[in-house]
Amino acid sequence: MRGISRFAWYVLALLALACICTVLPAGCKANMSGGHQSASSAASASSASGSASTSSDVAGEGEPSSSQVLSSAAASEGFAGEGAVLEVRFLDVGQGDCALVSCGGHHALIDGGPAQESDKVFTVLRNLGVASLDFVVATHADADHIGGIPAALRQAPTATCYSPVLEDQTETFATMKRYVEQGGGTLVVPVIPTELDLGGARLRIIGPTAPFDNDNDNSLVCRLEFGATSLLFMGDAESSAEQALIASGADLHADVLKVGHHGSANSTSPALVRAVQPASAVISVGADNGYGHPAARVLQTLQDASAVVYRTDQMGDVVAVSDGQRFLFSTGARRATQQHPADASGDAASEGGAAEGTAAEGDAAAAGTSEEAAEAAAQGYKYTSMKQFVDALPEGTAFIGNTRTKKFHSLDCPSVKAMKGKNATALASVEQAHELGYTPCGTCNPG
Ligand SMILES: [Zn+2]
Ligand SMILES: [Zn+2]
Repeated sequence: MRGISRFAWYVLALLALACICTVLPAGCKANMSGGHQSASSAASASSASGSASTSSDVAGEGEPSSSQVLSSAAASEGFAGEGAVLEVRFLDVGQGDCALVSCGGHHALIDGGPAQESDKVFTVLRNLGVASLDFVVATHADADHIGGIPAALRQAPTATCYSPVLEDQTETFATMKRYVEQGGGTLVVPVIPTELDLGGARLRIIGPTAPFDNDNDNSLVCRLEFGATSLLFMGDAESSAEQALIASGADLHADVLKVGHHGSANSTSPALVRAVQPASAVISVGADNGYGHPAARVLQTLQDASAVVYRTDQMGDVVAVSDGQRFLFSTGARRATQQHPADASGDAASEGGAAEGTAAEGDAAAAGTSEEAAEAAAQGYKYTSMKQFVDALPEGTAFIGNTRTKKFHSLDCPSVKAMKGKNATALASVEQAHELGYTPCGTCNPG
């Protein structure tokens, strides 16, 4: 139980970091490194932050350092990635795919979304401190998968970008290739299967098992493994590729299925779902897309298999975190929601900071508007509700801190119910609250 509780703490810290990182402009990260933000200083030591080297110092002087938590939690587990946590962020990029995979201070990108989401992709990587990508997988050459890769590479270059093809007719593909090469990287068609290490996790590229004429069927299919947990990324593979994959005898079982082709009707056959047996499924899809994705048939197939479905069109960013034993999920606010005028005065992102240094300063193909970036940053990684936060509280939580006001409250304080989930952090004791710089709420007089 202790391990689970610690994992929950860690996840909480990570999610708090995700909230704060995405909302804060770069200038505020200095504050975080200075230890002003308690939740983030603990979480900064994590794999999620590419700036682990600087921020782990902070965690050392701070409180329940997640590195300590991890090292002791890992001691009882004993798999290759011990001491690390795997995080997979399925970014809400509208109609498209983009997943940032982080483990043990290493990062990789599986698809980059469409070009119009460039600012979002850039901003997320920058705010997480991701300075380089161990590798990029461009599952196939369609624009809704590779259009945003240049923006990702501007923030975080890579040595290797895997793609099923070296050439494609489109300007989008040419731009991606140029960015890979300008960053000193190489475009590579992987041998199937290829195994790649990522900070204790392992990514196996297991498909396509044969060349297909259809671009989508030719998608690189990846199985990500971490301890006893696994995810299967189907790209846009459709039923022919699925059948071939099953026939290949590859291990397709996965806890999480990144559903193929945005949930289109000609993907995610019952046979594939039987082979994968996912507990959870992620559908990366745009709201009101013109393709009718996801198809009712696919949703039914997943429901029949008792898979919990996470959809980026309904939930915004979907973040899956594994300790090697199981996954925990969190989701962000839906992107279209216009919200929180009351928040605006206090939110760093709304002070214009998020707009600085965005992808807009470069190539037109990789540029969007800075307003979009600010909006994406302001809306990313929030708990949908305080209830969601409270439901996910780790064992041993005694108080709730408000990361913005730096007050801490008893669990039943009316202020807690009014607090926004993104501002909330769990605290185990009065001592911890004090050490992290929180002062007691005048209403509930905690402790
Ligand atoms: Zn697609
Ligand atoms: Zn496609």
